[in-house]
Amino acid sequence: MSDFAIEIKNLSLVYDLGTSAETLALKDINLKIKNHEYVILFGPSGCGKSTLLYTIAGLMKPTSGSVLINGKDITKMTAKEIAVMHRKDIGIVFQSYNLIPTLNIINNVSLPLVWRGAPKSLRVPIAKRLLKKFGLEGQENKLPQEMSGGQQQRASIARSLVNNPPIIIADEPTGNLDSKATKVVLDILDDLNRIDKKTIVMVTHDSSMFSYADRIVFLKDGQIVKEEVNSAKASQKAELEASDNKDKSTHKKNEEFANAISDYFLSISELHLKDNLNKIIVDRLEGRLNKSSFAEILQRPFRDGGLGMDKERVNDIERRISTITYESELLKGKTEEEIKETKMSLEIGELRKYLLEGFSKKLSFVQIKRLEEAISSYIRGAIDDEQFKKLVSLSEAQGGVGLNFADAFVFLSKLQLVLKLK
Ligand code: ADP
Ligand code: MG
Repeated sequence: MSDFAIEIKNLSLVYDLGTSAETLALKDINLKIKNHEYVILFGPSGCGKSTLLYTIAGLMKPTSGSVLINGKDITKMTAKEIAVMHRKDIGIVFQSYNLIPTLNIINNVSLPLVWRGAPKSLRVPIAKRLLKKFGLEGQENKLPQEMSGGQQQRASIARSLVNNPPIIIADEPTGNLDSKATKVVLDILDDLNRIDKKTIVMVTHDSSMFSYADRIVFLKDGQIVKEEVNSAKASQKAELEASDNKDKSTHKKNEEFANAISDYFLSISELHLKDNLNKIIVDRLEGRLNKSSFAEILQRPFRDGGLGMDKERVNDIERRISTITYESELLKGKTEEEIKETKMSLEIGELRKYLLEGFSKKLSFVQIKRLEEAISSYIRGAIDDEQFKKLVSLSEAQGGVGLNFADAFVFLSKLQLVLKLK
């Protein structure tokens, strides 16, 4: 797909060419509009705003130059191809709403779907959903003239969206509305741009609307005379996008973690539980389940919607999960290396606690450090089983942990048990 939703190159348009009424409405316009951009065309009456908008929409043919929509030159299209583009790529909102007076609102809104051959059973729910979105629930059977201007304009926006086009063009959409209805319509367009990521080109001669747009293009006598970027909006959008992407990538990582954990903990015969377990783990990682409800679901019998696990295994899973701090560290902006370090030492701390669970002797600070060193060497593969047992049972004076052989054997067995799960 092209980076630009709209590209206008050397566009000129002359009305009544070769007659005494000849008017040069657009002179050598060059303009590129990015996907997801919100552009306002601004200028005094008669400067060519509507002409430019309708040329973009393919409703008017330029005298010279080209108009590319999603990379395709519409000035080279047949009438049929332009009609398809209208249905698919561009939604149009007019100042005067242009609803059909003899059709009720639901039929007006679903009309573009009729042209696409959609059956009524499909058209009505789509149109209803859009009407609801714009606060017109319950108005479905009214005729346009039975509604206020603001309501009619919301209905016409709904109609422009019924085929879910990526581009919306609007010609003074609030020109006939009072200030309250104006605000509603502007907020709708704003949401369509920010949330639904629609590209918007709106014509206005009201400078108080500039704050909504990413960029304002000033027209005078058929020419672009100035462009202004609304840096406040640009930075808001960048922030929004960044946090959006961060959420998405965090979620993806959490899913990968969940998948890895399921792999450790489920046997081949339990693979049918995997999707379920993955989902529960992701919910736990993302804070939708706390520790106790997490444990409860895992232990709940299968027939009651749980996973039917025993307490031992649930504790093991919880232990694994609580060592996964990778994500939160990443969010704090630590480097991969730093995270690996912390993750490792956290894991070793966890492993040490696990080995000492139910252990009757109290270890000194030095003994704990030595034990962690032994664990660290063992999981890195620097020492083997025998060397691990030796380190644990060696006296403190000899650089060991200072426990006995039986303790060392228990620690090693426990360690092997959890490492097998990795
Ligand atoms: P705006 O929307 O900025 O008010 P328009 O695009 O409607 O401006 O008009 C630009 C110029 O083209 C004006 O001089 C207008 O009189 C002229 N014009 C617009 N439409 C027509 C038409 N259908 N036939 C002849 N001249 C037109
Ligand atoms: Mg106009």
